[in-house]
Amino acid sequence: FAPWNDPGAKPYIHYRGITKRFGDFVAVDNLDLKIYEREFFALLGPSGCGKTTLMRMLAGFEDPTEGQITLDGQDLAGIPPYRRSTNMMFQSYALFPHMDVTQNIAFGLKQDKLPKGEIEARVQEMLKLVKLEPFAKRKPHQMSGGQRQRVALARSLAKRPKVLLLDEPLGALDKKLREETQFELTDIQYELGLTFVIVTHDQEEAMTLADRIAVMDKGRIKQVATPAEIYEEPNTRYVADFIGNINILNAGVERTEPGLTRLAAQGLGTAIEVERDCPAAVGDSVFFAIRPEKMRLSLDAPPVTDVNALQGEIWDIGYLGDVSIYHVKLDNGAVVKATMTNVSRVVERPITWHDKVWLTWSRDAGLVLTS
Ligand code: ATP
Repeated sequence: FAPWNDPGAKPYIHYRGITKRFGDFVAVDNLDLKIYEREFFALLGPSGCGKTTLMRMLAGFEDPTEGQITLDGQDLAGIPPYRRSTNMMFQSYALFPHMDVTQNIAFGLKQDKLPKGEIEARVQEMLKLVKLEPFAKRKPHQMSGGQRQRVALARSLAKRPKVLLLDEPLGALDKKLREETQFELTDIQYELGLTFVIVTHDQEEAMTLADRIAVMDKGRIKQVATPAEIYEEPNTRYVADFIGNINILNAGVERTEPGLTRLAAQGLGTAIEVERDCPAAVGDSVFFAIRPEKMRLSLDAPPVTDVNALQGEIWDIGYLGDVSIYHVKLDNGAVVKATMTNVSRVVERPITWHDKVWLTWSRDAGLVLTS
């Protein structure tokens, strides 16, 4: 499933030249975005980057100042929220406290004046979908946070929207429950074959749930790609930093040839070689970015110490169960992080605080970023 790689595929949701201003403030800045049918799409970014505004314009709660949004080829301008085939599920659940689960799920269907039999059938279908059949007669206060979240999901799906919009849907759940619920959400989305758009500031949530992620900053999209691409091939320092852990070193381009970039890392006593075409010219300042798990940590000096090798001292160790994260202070004062699985940690002599260590990495392990 990768319609975004098919140049002929038609986008299902299409934002074109969308700008949203609140007074003088530009919340969304001339943005283009295509989302495909059946996609689970995440809008990810820090607070205030405009992700909720982008979603609210799709739902019809805000109008764009400029630009056009189409859904399945139809221009949404002037169409009120209740006549759009979108539905929004809110973080705060907004369940009616005096209604039981059945009544909560049936609420929107009654408002739409669906026949009684149809309402009953849909409520049953939804209860089954979210595995809450035994809870049909409970009130929200008699249920756990995770169960309430499932009622909210059932209620927003009962009207059979083509696109479900989820605004930080799991924000109120604890970590363990959030992880479980994430997988339920992807199962349900897949089973129903719907398009889901989620807004979140939680990179882990976006990575677990989404087919593709748009990373946003100040009303603009920095990168749109699959979770793996975003993690492995971030296009900017901003994206690299926002997703997971990464080490970023200042460097200058020393030499380039097809498929190889050689960088000089100021004051670090090593050259850096990366098996990639260089995105900049000789003499330019760039960033070398490398994930902590791509660093090898050793007490022994490597055979080659002047390329892709740094020496430092263990400054801190975080034990995370499956892996440990080591903070290594380099001679110039910079701190580099390296992770090692705790399986390898017990085989060798354990590396401990204040050990002098070597960090090495292979030529295919890092990235050269220009901004
Ligand atoms: P959060 O995760 O905090 O909700 P967000 O990325 O979803 O952040 P938005 O809610 O889209 O951000 O808001 C983007 C910017 O637009 C913010 O600076 C916000 O203050 C501003 N904004 C949003 N709605 C309005 C409004 N109705 N009037 C004025 N400014 C607004």
